[in-house]
Amino acid sequence: MAQLLDGKAYADQMLEEVRIAVEARKKDGLAPPCLAVVLVGEDPASQVYVKGKVAACAKTGIRSVERRPPSDISQSDLNLLIESLNSDPGVDGILVQLPLPKHLDSKAALHRISPAKDVDGFHPLNQGHLFEGLPGLRPCTPSACMRMLKSYGVDMKGQRALVLGRSEIVGKPMALMLLEEHATVTIAHSRTVDLPGVCREADILVAAIGKPGLVEGSWIKPGAVVVDVGINRVMDVPLGERIFVAEPGKLEKLREKGSVLCGDVRFGEAMQVAGAVTPVPGGVGPLTIAGLMMNTLEACENRGA
Ligand code: NAD
Repeated sequence: MAQLLDGKAYADQMLEEVRIAVEARKKDGLAPPCLAVVLVGEDPASQVYVKGKVAACAKTGIRSVERRPPSDISQSDLNLLIESLNSDPGVDGILVQLPLPKHLDSKAALHRISPAKDVDGFHPLNQGHLFEGLPGLRPCTPSACMRMLKSYGVDMKGQRALVLGRSEIVGKPMALMLLEEHATVTIAHSRTVDLPGVCREADILVAAIGKPGLVEGSWIKPGAVVVDVGINRVMDVPLGERIFVAEPGKLEKLREKGSVLCGDVRFGEAMQVAGAVTPVPGGVGPLTIAGLMMNTLEACENRGA
């Protein structure tokens, strides 16, 4: 049976670390860090994510401000809103919740955020710093995954690491961070030939594709460390019957409640083969929010505010 990599527990430790640092700032008479969250429109999933981020701010003592422009905001008005937060000395970090409504250009908006306040680490300048191995604000999901792997003592040096997915938010930065730890890194994606064979070579497998239960137990190298970034809502019972064979409890829940959350990896099967696995939910999701709090604290301290 694989070891469970408890992302939730490690995320709580990270939040506590941030809370202590914020408390120390307050004792020194300094203002707490401030995160500005921009939520365009009423997308229900985005509202849930923003709620989680604002709650984490409250837990750590970070101040949060929300800006909720309507879904029909123009690109130029969104740009103006971002500029106003850039020039607000009371704001340390800016987060524009994705996805944006279709008429808006997400990249153009993200590139407007001052690199010093870019707590998501998506600005090209921060991406460039990561590329060059320089310090800077780094994307929350991969950086928090790396922290957790290190906390569990996972030795990455010389190991074969496979990152499934090549997004700018997770896949690409994760690959760079693994490379920085001297892993031998492969990136696989939707055009990769023989994905099961490529997966079977991996000592460390990071799945970030958004396909429920795509990675089967038979694809996993015995003893591998598996990090499942995917968060998928499954509502289709026949699909559940295929992917939850080794997780009867989840299948039962799907039948009862009509939907369940799962990752890109078949968790029950992975637990029988791998050396260590993150669950979904309770794995990488909470780590991402904790990473955001760390980045907000870092942005504040870097600004000398
Ligand atoms: P994305 O859609 O931007 O990228 C998906 C990637 O997967 C692409 O590079 C694509 O080439 C690859 N892919 C798609 N189908 C594939 C297939 N059949 N075989 C191999 N590769 C395939 O997604 P993203 O933003 O990187 O997110 C990926 C998943 O991670 C989603 O489920 C998302 O919800 C989740 N996510 C979770 C967190 C978290 O905090 N846990 C954070 C970000 C994203």
